[in-house]
Amino acid sequence: MKANYHTHTTRCHHARGSDEDYVRSAIAGGFEILGFSDHTPWNYASDYVAGMRMKLEQFQDYKQSVLALKEKYRGQIEILLGLEAEYFPRYMDWLKEFVKQEQLDYILFGNHFYQSDELQIYYGRVCADDHYLDCYVEDCIRGMESGLYAYLCHPDVFMRGRDRFDEASERASRTICEAAKQLHIPLEYNLEGLRLSGLEGKEQYPHHRFWEIAKDVGNTAIIGVDAHDNHSLDMETNWNEAVHYLDEVLEIKRVDHMEMKGF
Ligand SMILES: [Zn+2]
Ligand SMILES: [Zn+2]
Repeated sequence: MKANYHTHTTRCHHARGSDEDYVRSAIAGGFEILGFSDHTPWNYASDYVAGMRMKLEQFQDYKQSVLALKEKYRGQIEILLGLEAEYFPRYMDWLKEFVKQEQLDYILFGNHFYQSDELQIYYGRVCADDHYLDCYVEDCIRGMESGLYAYLCHPDVFMRGRDRFDEASERASRTICEAAKQLHIPLEYNLEGLRLSGLEGKEQYPHHRFWEIAKDVGNTAIIGVDAHDNHSLDMETNWNEAVHYLDEVLEIKRVDHMEMKGF
């Protein structure tokens, strides 16, 4: 089965293609399940306006659009309503209520920022600093322990900020992998990172050393397109390359779809 649970929309300000374009591309790309998981809005205590996610007021439009597409394409592709969310300690009670109230099918764990994006400490950059690498690992674990998230997106995104995969990177990877394994949470092999690494000519994430450790620890992998452009879904090269790497080169356990239980 071919399923992708990691899909954005233009509401996050850094994606392109209409909601329906993503569905059409997913069908063209041979997907049987397409989960929308745009960057979640947060109910900030401050008047902060995030540049990379929808506003809370936009959520209903997002939800209605996804549910309408689910109906329209019933029988052709299964569409799910999700979100990609960080672990922001002070707002977790709100998030827990929100996902229940809005009856989401699932949320993904995209650990992008330290504490809250109001502070603008982006893990993809600051993890060059070992202190923030520790914070990243800590948040990954706390978030996974919350039991809210279906899987951990781009677990190795910290390599975006680091020059080389050193001992600290190795330790961080092993700690994340062991926690995920213990909590039965799959780790995402992220195709958007693969695309960026290719574009910038530098291996960032997915990082092969991270994935060798995941294999060694006995983790389960899942491929996530992390589509910010609908054509990431109908262009099959990266998907096939990832399947080949995970199944035949690395030989790690991989799930091709998940049962989403809702909240
Ligand atoms: Zn994004
Ligand atoms: Zn994403």
